[in-house]
Amino acid sequence: MKEKIIRKIFNGMIYIHILHHASEEAFYGSWMIEELKGHGYNISPGTLYPVLKEMVEQGLLEKEERIVYGKIRKYYKTTKEGDILLNSLRESLKELTNKI
Ligand SMILES: [Zn+2]
Repeated sequence: MKEKIIRKIFNGMIYIHILHHASEEAFYGSWMIEELKGHGYNISPGTLYPVLKEMVEQGLLEKEERIVYGKIRKYYKTTKEGDILLNSLRESLKELTNKI
């Protein structure tokens, strides 16, 4: 039961992380998996890719295909809407961390 709640909170953090990095520079999936690992989140491609897909469908990220070493690699960056959401999340987090 408690694990379920913790998982939900971690998932939320992952969304924020993705928005943050996508607003700085376009990234590709396996880069993000390594990046999240560095922050202590172990996320599999099977978890990450549906999240990215969902965020593209919701208009928060845009996907761009680039050819890298002869292979198609999908890059993600924030849309205007994604940047706006990130900013308001930042404000909420700031407000919250002042309180807890
Ligand atoms: Zn990071």
